Amino acid sequence: MDRKEFLNVKRIVVKLGTNILRNEHGEVALPRIYSFIEDISSLVKAGKEVILVTSGAVGFGKKKLNITSTDSPALKQACAAIGQGKLMSIYEDGFDTYNIITGQILLTEDDFSQRKKYLTLRATLNRLLELKAVPIINQNDTVTVIESDDTFNDVQVCFQDNDKLSALIASELDADLLIILSDVPGLYKENPKLNPNAEFIKEVTGVTPEILAMGTDASEGGRGGMRTKLEAAKLVTRYGGKVLIANGKIPFVLSEIFNYKEIGTMFIPTVEYLSEKKRWIGYATNIIGKLIVNDGAKEAILKKESSLLPIGVVSILNDFKRGEVVSIRDTNDVEFARGIVNYNSEDCKRIIGNHSKEILNVLGFKNYDAIITRDNITIL
Ligand code: GLU
Repeated sequence: MDRKEFLNVKRIVVKLGTNILRNEHGEVALPRIYSFIEDISSLVKAGKEVILVTSGAVGFGKKKLNITSTDSPALKQACAAIGQGKLMSIYEDGFDTYNIITGQILLTEDDFSQRKKYLTLRATLNRLLELKAVPIINQNDTVTVIESDDTFNDVQVCFQDNDKLSALIASELDADLLIILSDVPGLYKENPKLNPNAEFIKEVTGVTPEILAMGTDASEGGRGGMRTKLEAAKLVTRYGGKVLIANGKIPFVLSEIFNYKEIGTMFIPTVEYLSEKKRWIGYATNIIGKLIVNDGAKEAILKKESSLLPIGVVSILNDFKRGEVVSIRDTNDVEFARGIVNYNSEDCKRIIGNHSKEILNVLGFKNYDAIITRDNITIL
């Protein structure tokens, strides 16, 4: 796809990673941050809607405390509390210079997982954009309990890093483009740190398992690596959005991008379109309950987009309530779909393996024939 067509967009989420907000001494990279602010202000004045997802709170906090690592979740959370104010004051002052209003939003997984909160957040963000403000979003590190609470060991959390957070925001707002800026130029076929001749990939259509396998782990500083960026790209391209992963250290990189310079790796949307509700089911919730299904049920879901009937379910793991999103797994425990359950875990345990016509006999009541109705299933 040519760059002009790729950048024919209105609503853009820009994600800035910790390593491009600091210089090589770990200090705030003020000139670079101001260049982002200037570029984003120009985009807003040109009629674009921009949402900024920014890391940096923990890194700035560490610098203020003069420490290089955090040995406990509580210290890291304290760093975030110290650094977030600094981060926001830079953005607010900077955008003020260009007469652009900002609004701070700090989020945890629950804000996505609970559908009411998710819809409230969406309304607030849309209102901010109508007001021509730039929402500035970060994970609410100070109150997130994921790292410090063992009860979360068995939970599949909807996001733990800002790459995934930026994709969830893009998805929630139907953004046309997500730009992820970090200290890497884009996607290579192999890890360029191990093979300096690794081939650079300019364009990707469809984030396939082969593409996902090219992902590497996080670098020092931020939480995400190429793997989390590719997962973010997968989510956004599945609903029809575009993604660009590029090097944020290129001077005035956002202006360069919008001047159609060949920078970064472009991810082109796939033809598939996921409705807003299916995106929420597939990606935005924390998952506790799991259903193991037999091969017949797996094939029916994947090939015919069928509902999941009790007869196809082999076992139930963990407790869940009716209406929650659960993980749908094959007999090798590989997750391939997620869906909203019509029965709680206790009732599910009693009806699995039975024909749907037996549900009334077994439970004494029947809500639905299916444990999960087809409209409430998202294939991953
Ligand atoms: N929320 C973290 C911070 O502000 C960064 C998380 C990430 O890099 O993904 O420092």
